[in-house]
Amino acid sequence: MQNKNGEEFAVGLAAVQAAASLCEAVRAAMVVEAAPGALNKQDQSPVTVADFGAQALICHMLGDRFPGDTIVAEEDSATLQEARHVDQLTAVTRFVAHHIPHVSPANICEWIDRGKGEPGQRFWVLDPIDGTKGFLRRDQYAIALALIEDGAVRWGFLACPVLEHTRGAGAIFVAQQSRGVEMFTLDGTRLGLVQVSSTDDPRRGRLAESVESAHTNRSLSCELQRSLGITEAPVRMDSQAKYAAVAQGQADIYLRAPNTRTPDYRECIWDHAAGWLVVTEAGGRVTDVYGAELNWTQGRRLEQNIGVLATNRLLHQAMLEALRPSLPPQP
Ligand code: AMP
Ligand code: MG
Repeated sequence: MQNKNGEEFAVGLAAVQAAASLCEAVRAAMVVEAAPGALNKQDQSPVTVADFGAQALICHMLGDRFPGDTIVAEEDSATLQEARHVDQLTAVTRFVAHHIPHVSPANICEWIDRGKGEPGQRFWVLDPIDGTKGFLRRDQYAIALALIEDGAVRWGFLACPVLEHTRGAGAIFVAQQSRGVEMFTLDGTRLGLVQVSSTDDPRRGRLAESVESAHTNRSLSCELQRSLGITEAPVRMDSQAKYAAVAQGQADIYLRAPNTRTPDYRECIWDHAAGWLVVTEAGGRVTDVYGAELNWTQGRRLEQNIGVLATNRLLHQAMLEALRPSLPPQP
């Protein structure tokens, strides 16, 4: 159980809660074309507005309570400050003002740029909207915030505004190193501890993977499923919601196999830090696809790791062994 009195706990939870509420408000206001439910995909501005709004809110809330802390976030305000994006800056300001009255466009840019820090001894890592494509499709996305200290992920806050669970839809997962992970509703009501599944037969393993085929290696994962005798079709979802699915036992395995078209791709720390802790603290195991521990000391990317394998722990060794023949020799 996490230390409920910790300041990190209170601020982190409040920050991702506010950001989730902002993102859902932006999504509700998104342009809908004539066909019911169809989005105007040409218009990327809702993503931008939600991304920047979520980052501004979270950086403001962290900066207020932890003024000395570094924040390493995905966005910066440079494009938002261009004259041609003035409407978007106005929209971001309007959405943030629902949470922090009297905010100005200058405040917004300043708060967003608090996220331009460099990884060091203690820093927060933030993906204000993970799974942008899912956000636009009205599918899964996540707001992912983690605290890294001395190379270890100490806290993970993962808001999954539309993820289904046994008590409804929309959840926030809060994990503290060595203290477990708890689930909350989007309005902050505690729903209880989260645990991985007890599936120990690889043939019954339920696999989660990216919707975007470019972010993983579908042929490798098909091969793997065949070799292990997995019959159930993989669950495809965007964002770190996949980590949440493994943590709460909806899935048993999350595989992010390196795509052969992007062999030099190295994962961004904000795409994994919060999810890594959520699965680990739910009793699962996360390594790269070769079985190496994820190394959080290499800057903004996991330079020493290739791909990611998250499981309920019981299936981890079997998965690594089944993966080995399909992987290129370790660089
Ligand atoms: P997902 O929703 O799990 O597919 O992950 C979305 C994330 O994939 C984005 O935030 C990107 O940072 C990341 N990404 C972009 N290109 C690649 C790639 N070639 N391989 C793996 N991940 C990628
Ligand atoms: Mg991301």
